[in-house]
Amino acid sequence: MRSLYIKKEDCCGCGACVDICRRGAVRMMIDREGFRYPKIDGSLCVDCRQCEKVCPVKKKAQSMERNPSRKYFAVQVKDEEVRRLSSSGGMFPVLAKYVINRQGVVYGASYGRNMKVVHKGIHTMEELDAVKRTKYVQSSLKGVYREIETQLKDDRWVLFCGTPCQAQGLKDFLKTPYPKLILTDLICYGVPSPGIWRSYVKSLEKKRGGRMTDFSFRDKRNRDNGHMCSYEIGGNEYSGSLYSDPYCRMYFSNHILRPSCHICRFCTIERESDITIGDFWGIEKVRPDMDDGMGTSVVILHTEKAREIWEAVREELSWFECEKKDVLQPRLTGPSGAAKSRRIFMACYKALPFSVFQKLYILSASGRTFIRRLFGW
Ligand SMILES: Cc1cc2nc3c(=O)[nH]c(=O)nc-3n(C[C@H](O)[C@H](O)[C@H](O)COP(=O)(O)OP(=O)(O)OC[C@H]3O[C@@H](n4cnc5c(N)ncnc54)[C@H](O)[C@@H]3O)c2cc1C
Repeated sequence: MRSLYIKKEDCCGCGACVDICRRGAVRMMIDREGFRYPKIDGSLCVDCRQCEKVCPVKKKAQSMERNPSRKYFAVQVKDEEVRRLSSSGGMFPVLAKYVINRQGVVYGASYGRNMKVVHKGIHTMEELDAVKRTKYVQSSLKGVYREIETQLKDDRWVLFCGTPCQAQGLKDFLKTPYPKLILTDLICYGVPSPGIWRSYVKSLEKKRGGRMTDFSFRDKRNRDNGHMCSYEIGGNEYSGSLYSDPYCRMYFSNHILRPSCHICRFCTIERESDITIGDFWGIEKVRPDMDDGMGTSVVILHTEKAREIWEAVREELSWFECEKKDVLQPRLTGPSGAAKSRRIFMACYKALPFSVFQKLYILSASGRTFIRRLFGW
């Protein structure tokens, strides 16, 4: 039977292949590392190859157009409460407001049932909080590409914000350029395993005795640019450093990123989206007066449409224009490398009950060298 990828690295899991198949022949299946991969049902497939054509990873061979009129900004939304509740400088909510004021639809990542991270569309400012803030988990876009196409065909404004592979998947899914689509992608460190996230949520729920209702990966209560995380279980709030949280440690030590993230071709400034947003790393060097610990966004405008929207929203922002060299950060020059011990780490995840696996990881991360040596973590 035909497969959409040979090596795991060749599939970014954006899901555009699932939505493009009108016969429902492509479905996502979870692998043993907890990532979703497409599988073709040979009995339904008519070999039209649309699923291959829409794949952002297979598009690799084409070079992306260089754009000399690209613009770079450091941005903070003036509304302090909006910025506090955003992951960096709050550029996304400003773009969202622009679209909602035009009766449009905003698509972003939210927590669904059992804290699963899913993209969804929202229509009002009251609903915006659900799709704000960074979730360090690969989101599912099942049905979202088709829904966006319907909105655009109905002549509605649509803001899409997601990882660069998802944004490219959407662009290739739509084929036609729509003037009312604002395609926004993130600077992306890489996406971690939804399966490991699910196991982690369950372990916290068991420990605390209740259901998790929220997890904030970028809590700014210490005015440290969001290096705290916090979560709610059974109406109680728990918080701690981002780097002492076991799941976040697994993420930032590059043990649980999707294999394709390690060879990601979108870790560059050259992109096909309208706008790229991320954290302004190094703002303390470029503009120390802006570094108040509450987050600054880097905003890259790639297209004429993006520049028009910028003119319409910039009054809501404190900003300054900068040069390309000021915004360059590791994920704009190359992908995150895999941890040397990723393979053995994942083998242990597959083989051991999560509670045991997690205990071993915490012990090794807290400096128990015998475990480090044993597993090579
Ligand atoms: C997995 C991941 C890795 C990232 N890595 C980096 C990095 O290395 N360097 C960097 O500068 N910035 C990175 N970012 C982006 C950064 O964390 C902020 O999301 C971005 O700066 C926007 O913040 P904001 O204040 O403008 O708005 P926010 O209100 O914080 O908006 C966040 C936006 O990201 C979307 N989003 C959240 N979680 C996901 C997800 N899992 N998948 C797809 N979209 C999502 C939301 O829907 C929303 O549109 C990453 C984001 C994610 C999700």
